[in-house]
Order: sequence, then structure tokens, then C-alpha cells
Amino acid sequence: MEELKANMLFGKYEVGRILGKGTFAKVYYAKEIATGEGVAIKVIDKDKVRKEGMMEQIKREISVMRLVKHPNIVNLKEVMATKTKILFVMEYARGGELFDKVAKGKFKEELARKYFQQLISAVDYCHSRGVSHRDLKPENLLLDENGDLKVSDFGLSALPEQLRQDGLLHTQCGTPAYVAPEVVRKRGYNGFKADTWSCGVILYALLAGFLPFQHENLMSMYTKVFKEDYQFPPWFSPESKRLISKILVADPERRITISSIMNVPWFRKGLSSLSTFTTSNDDVELEAKVIDSSPPQFFNAFEFISSMSSGFDLSGLFEEKKKRGSIFTSKCSVLEIVTKIESAAKNLKFKVKKVKDFKLKLQGSCEGRKGKLAVSAEIYEVAPELAVVEFSKCSGDTFEYVKVFEEDVRPALKDIVWSWQGE
Ligand code: AMP
Repeated sequence: MEELKANMLFGKYEVGRILGKGTFAKVYYAKEIATGEGVAIKVIDKDKVRKEGMMEQIKREISVMRLVKHPNIVNLKEVMATKTKILFVMEYARGGELFDKVAKGKFKEELARKYFQQLISAVDYCHSRGVSHRDLKPENLLLDENGDLKVSDFGLSALPEQLRQDGLLHTQCGTPAYVAPEVVRKRGYNGFKADTWSCGVILYALLAGFLPFQHENLMSMYTKVFKEDYQFPPWFSPESKRLISKILVADPERRITISSIMNVPWFRKGLSSLSTFTTSNDDVELEAKVIDSSPPQFFNAFEFISSMSSGFDLSGLFEEKKKRGSIFTSKCSVLEIVTKIESAAKNLKFKVKKVKDFKLKLQGSCEGRKGKLAVSAEIYEVAPELAVVEFSKCSGDTFEYVKVFEEDVRPALKDIVWSWQGE
């Protein structure tokens, strides 16, 4: 790529050494010129992805990373695109892969527990958003400069819409040594329970320095997995053995749940309280959404074109302010749009306040997980018969926002929508 050859990316990042390679991507270290801050840039080849029919997966990775913000999950800072590449600018995890450390030798119980607590915190957070990771393994567990865990690689994650009507996932994925038996069996499986299994394998590996199920022959390894055939090394404490034997249960229905793991005394050791432990930094993100002072702004041509194209739709991710937005075009007049949104909001028992002529703030009446939901709707007239409408969440829980938006707001506006972004 031209920009990478010159070591400069859009005049904004100075690109350095390669950090790692995935199936579709290379990850580079880079420095943001303005702040001097180190970042990791994942460069994905659009063509390669298209050829392999992986478009949906990449889009999913983007939407998953937008939904999750947690101290133990690699943060997505921005997404950029050139003609041939997609670039994910991510928080840089300076400490490298946890796997490299485990490969050098087993951890003491306290350290293994710390990483396991952070892993479970991240997984519990994702599950509360309806997201299962499905490829949890030490290679996807990175460390930051403070030695704290950062879960990366959401390439195989599944969002709720992928669940078929039986509520189970049907794509086989994951890495053999960590994969739950029900995933191997190719029957439908519950992604949350499968993640729990992988967490058990990881905990075992952290304490042992090797994997619980290992065999050069894949079939023999799976036979061991199905039979829960593994041994504890002599240095495992009775409490850690008890916990692992509750996690590595082949029948997903009998396997301990993440919330029960969080109540096990061995797990809780050293934690002050569950609430401080599970606090996410979602509120930080909400602060950036205080909307009233921002002047209306037009979309730039690139964003507008990319929002309308059926290929990669990245426009909503270019700016912080557009995060969590939902955009549609309409051929109706701005006045008609405002009237329609107002009446739809009233039907949904949302209070409506006009912030500016073409900007509304809608406030829900029910108390949600993070208080009442508040949403802004801004209408931009881009041509005499073409308006772009953007919704964004101002406060409340993101998952509840997505649910209300998908189930109530979108159907209520169908008469005035010409096309939803990306559809
Ligand atoms: P991935 O394609 O996400 O599996 O990334 C491939 C490799 O790049 C990882 O195994 C890491 O070694 C490295 N890597 C990925 N993301 C980051 C990051 N945010 N910070 C540091 N290294 C990373």
C-alpha cells in the first residue's frame, strides 16, 4: 500500500514494525503523530476478504468492536479505508501475547487467577451485550504496559442476529485445543457456554504451562475432550481443581455458568467487590455524546458515498461523534421527517424535545440497565429532495438502544426511509 510504503498513513500515523499476522490481516505498530501515542493498526486486504466471502465477518468484527468497551478488551479507536484496504486503528497492547509468557513456564496461582479474573470480567461483559467471542485462546489474550489483560480478535465473534430460531449458533469455528465438545459435534451450540469451556482450558494452561487436551492426532484429542479425559498436575490447589472440573464438563447444560464462576471463593480472592470489578468504561464513551453544542455538519462526500454503497460500509465509524449512530436517507421534506419522528416517538412513549430546528432529543420513560435511554435525531438536507437522518444514543445502555432501535424505531419510520445505511 502506498501510504504504508512511505511509512505515513493519511499524514496521521507513522507506521512501524509488523506486530503479527492473522489469516486476512497484518498488524503494524504505529504512532499517532499529533499525540505521540502508540497504536496497533490492523490492515485488511479488501480483495482477499471479498474472494473468501468473508465480507460479512469483517463487518461483524467492526460492529462487535463498536459494541464492546471494557478495560480488558482491546479498544477500537477508528476505522479507515483506502481503495484496497481496511484499517482498524486499535489500542496498542505493549506487553505482547500472554501465550508467549505461558510458553516460558507456568504461572503462580495468584498471577493465573488475576488473568482469569480479568478474562472472565471481559467475557461476562461481552455476554451481557449478547456477544460471544468463540475463539478465546492465549494468542488472543494480549497484555498492556501494566500487565493487564486485553482480549483481542473478534473476527469470529457472533452477534445475536446470527442465532437461528432455536437460539443456537451453527458455524463451526475456534481453535481445536480450546474448542468446546458441542462445537466440534457440529450440532447447534450456545456461544456463551462454549466461551466458558475455553476459559476453563485457558485457566488450566495458565496454571499448568501446558494444555489439558493434547494429542498429535486430532481425532484422539477430540476423544479426550468428549470424555473429559485430562489429568491435574500435582501442584494444582484443591480449589482450582474443583473450579476447573466444573468448567471442563462436556455437557454444556451441566457446565458452570460465568455468573456462578464469579461467585466461587477461589475466583473472588483478592477482589474488593463484584461491582467495582465488573464496571465498564461505557460511561466515558457516553460523555463524548453530549450533543447540544455541536453545529449541524454535512457529511463529507466520502462518508456519504460509502454510507450508500453496498460494499464496505464504514462511514459511521470515522468519527467519535458518529459512533453508535444509525443513518438513513429520505426523499421526504425535512419538515415531514421531523413530524414523523415526533409521532413515532410519542407512540413509543418517548418524550420529544427540539434541540435545534432539525435536531430532536428523544427520552425514554423506562429505567434501563444504565438509566433512561436518550437518543438524538438530526436531519441534514443534502440536496433539495434528499435528506440524511442520523440517530445516535446520548445516554442509557447501548444494548438496550440497539434493541429498541431495531425492534421499534426502524419499523415505525419505514414510510419515510428511502434507504438505511449499508442496506
Ligand atoms: P489478529 O489478526 O488480531 O489475531 O492479530 C495478529 C497478531 O498481531 C496478534 O496475535 C498479536 O501478536 C498482534 N496484535 C494484534 N492486535 C494487537 C494490539 N492491539 N496490540 C499489540 N499487538 C497486537
